[in-house]
Amino acid sequence: MKIEEGVRLERLTTVGVGGPARAFGRPETLAELRDSLAWAAEQDLPVRPVGLGSNLLAADEGVEALVVRLQGELAGIEIHEDLLVAGGGAANAVCLHRARDAGLGGLEFACAIPGTAGGGVRMNAGAYGTEWKDVLVRALVVDARGAEWRSNEELDLSYRHSVLAPGQVVAVVEFRLTPRPAEEIRATVAEMQARRKETQPTNKRTFGSVFKNPSHDLGAGRMIEACGLKGHRVGGAVISPRHANFIENAGGATARDALALMAEARRRAHDQFGVVLEREVELLGDLELPPI
Ligand SMILES: Cc1cc2nc3c(=O)[nH]c(=O)nc-3n(C[C@H](O)[C@H](O)[C@H](O)COP(=O)(O)OP(=O)(O)OC[C@H]3O[C@@H](n4cnc5c(N)ncnc54)[C@H](O)[C@@H]3O)c2cc1C
Repeated sequence: MKIEEGVRLERLTTVGVGGPARAFGRPETLAELRDSLAWAAEQDLPVRPVGLGSNLLAADEGVEALVVRLQGELAGIEIHEDLLVAGGGAANAVCLHRARDAGLGGLEFACAIPGTAGGGVRMNAGAYGTEWKDVLVRALVVDARGAEWRSNEELDLSYRHSVLAPGQVVAVVEFRLTPRPAEEIRATVAEMQARRKETQPTNKRTFGSVFKNPSHDLGAGRMIEACGLKGHRVGGAVISPRHANFIENAGGATARDALALMAEARRRAHDQFGVVLEREVELLGDLELPPI
């Protein structure tokens, strides 16, 4: 498998921010994935999988790692009765369409989540009251030591959390679905998508939710809005005027701009509500939020 140099993370993330990866690979099979992980171990480089980069903020200076994006077989989808078996790199939208065409429901919520099957495991992604944990049977997890199936319970999935370490790659995901007429699936998806459009900046470059919702009457978005930060701008990054828990790339945004907005939102939420907002977005490279 070819290892590329100088591939910029801004091309691999939905927010369009991020400098070069020290090394970049697109493994298409388990054997290629293993080879690339072995290569990284020889070079003493950490491994960082990316899916569709829809919950990632990557450093402007780039990342000293082998970044892998799963393709080919590792982004394929098969259906066996009520089991949908997806490569870790399979896009959620494609999984959902394949399930719908096979008359299988359960993944409708994933229409709101513009990522991959593997990224969804790492994040335990969820929307409209359903999350990966509710439909996941098991996942094949690969790292430099080898490959191992992990059950739903072993992955310890909870709100935007799994037990997976940053260098572990989800290569295959099994979902258990339920028979449902395609027309009903279509109707549910249309309704969810309409709700999204009403409340979120679906046509802007963002990385999804910035912060997790705190244990508080107000969600993170309403809290940041109450701090007067809707529309607040640093450089090319703006706190979304539509939903304050999103940061939009309004043109030429850098990771530094986005991080400055995040730090300001945390500081104000702490001063005004006594709440320490916890980051949902994953940071890639040498990036850190300052302490409150
Ligand atoms: C407009 C918008 C709306 C969103 N709405 C939601 C929502 O409603 N609910 C929700 O939960 N999320 C939402 N998100 C965030 C994001 O889509 C999810 O977190 C998604 O699951 C991330 O998947 P990804 O494949 O893009 O992962 P990435 O963003 O590429 O990566 C996220 C993390 O997963 C890891 N990762 C990626 N692929 C793998 C793999 N194969 N194996 C192991 N680790 C991997 C990465 O290393 C990183 O730590 C939204 C994002 C956007 C832009």
